Amino acid sequence: MKMLINGEWRDAVSGKVFSVQNPATGDVIEEAPLGGEEDVRSAVEAAEEAFADWSAKSQRDRAKVLFFAAVEVRHRNTDLAALLTAEQGKPIREAVDEINGFANILEYYHALSASGRGESQTLKGYGRMLVRRRPLGICGAIIPWNMPAIIMGWKIGPALVAGNTVVLKPARTAPLTCTRLAEILGGAGLPPGVLNVVTGPGETVGREIARHPSIRKVSFTGEVETGKQVALDAAPALKRVTLELGGSDPMIVAGDADIGKAVEGVIRGRYYNCGQVCTAVKRLYVDESIADEFVRRLTARVGAIAVGNGMDRGVEMGPLNNRAGLLRVAGLVEDVRERGEGEIVAGGRVPEGERYERGLFFLPTLITGVPHDSPLFSEEVFGPVLPVATVSGFDEALALANNSRYGLGASVWTRNADLIARATEELEAGIVWVNQHLKIPPEVPFGGTKESGIGRENGSRALEEYMEDQAVLIRL
Ligand code: NAD
Repeated sequence: MKMLINGEWRDAVSGKVFSVQNPATGDVIEEAPLGGEEDVRSAVEAAEEAFADWSAKSQRDRAKVLFFAAVEVRHRNTDLAALLTAEQGKPIREAVDEINGFANILEYYHALSASGRGESQTLKGYGRMLVRRRPLGICGAIIPWNMPAIIMGWKIGPALVAGNTVVLKPARTAPLTCTRLAEILGGAGLPPGVLNVVTGPGETVGREIARHPSIRKVSFTGEVETGKQVALDAAPALKRVTLELGGSDPMIVAGDADIGKAVEGVIRGRYYNCGQVCTAVKRLYVDESIADEFVRRLTARVGAIAVGNGMDRGVEMGPLNNRAGLLRVAGLVEDVRERGEGEIVAGGRVPEGERYERGLFFLPTLITGVPHDSPLFSEEVFGPVLPVATVSGFDEALALANNSRYGLGASVWTRNADLIARATEELEAGIVWVNQHLKIPPEVPFGGTKESGIGRENGSRALEEYMEDQAVLIRL
């Protein structure tokens, strides 16, 4: 694979490459160019040149390209999903959903393009005021490896419909699907230079995108500390930043909850994508009146999750994406074991057997009796490990849920209207789910409060974030 700059496939200026490995097998899937600052600069030049023509097109014409690309993405879903599973590790079923999700996002912004409106008003004594919505210029998009296609869609969908051009950097361990999707957009009619993909390390490619003075906005998704660095790098040019950062989502299960549904909510909410989702359920608070039964049923269900290569039939959970992530998760569980702070009731180790030997697998893990000040509650655990705490009522659950530097998502499981009202009022989170967790269709504005981020992606609001107003006062 090569980088896609100005509509051409290019090697890195350095001439170097890096290997993209399958986390389930350790096999090298493909080599990708090891881009650097110079490659970002030539992508910015291409994006600068492409901007005038692209921004001059009607929003409708720009959106049509996204629509045609979505049709092609759906047509090639099987191959794209297999590529995503190979580089990322998720079960093929989840990969198929993610590729369809990417197409959904493009179609959503295509549909929105028909509803764009400016403002016009006569101001007595001043004349006619018009408010024009203009694209920002070149936008940077920095993508993590956990949901590369969806997050790419969240960034490029609104950016391109609004008339911007884009320099995109995929994550090092999952650059292939993003590049393939960019190629499909080119085939659907996106002119050369409108969307450029530079592969390589965050410290060079990512930082140059954050710093480059010609890039007017950078949308970053990744870890909190990286996001803070991006904000610092973007500050001298006063560029706009959207930061979609980590989360430690609480799930509160009230005493009246439907236990069966809530158990399934945890299975999907925590173990989907091997727990590597920003809005995964990362802390579970269960009312003491149902805690015993809940934990018993959940433990049995967690223990039954089929782990394996995402391409294999029946597999519900694949490997972690990268070795650093596996080591971090395994280390946190080891600490629990060493300090005796909690009981590991399911998983807690690397699975045994030949089929797991070459991959980055860790068993779905459930830990009870963890103290509230444990890193399992205070840190973002990016893998299939869930601490459970029993609470003495809804007040305690809400207080514990809000006791976090994160504020991305949260869910409450109850049929009691008063508790739902309280939870939606009081939970400090960018998104609150009731009797569900994790689902984010294209219409939903998505982003965090507190250290989980700045700005919103997805939904109609995101289009605004890729435009700025120009006021015009006309007197004849
Ligand atoms: P990461 O911060 O390590 O990397 C994210 C991207 O930034 C990668 O492309 C990386 O190469 C690049 N990067 C690294 N250092 C950089 C720098 N100094 N400047 C610019 N770019 C740099 O995160 P990750 O491990 O890829 O992803 C996991 C994290 O992403 C988790 O914390 C997760 O919660 C978060 N996440 C958040 C959302 C959200 O929407 N809020 C969605 C998915 C993932």
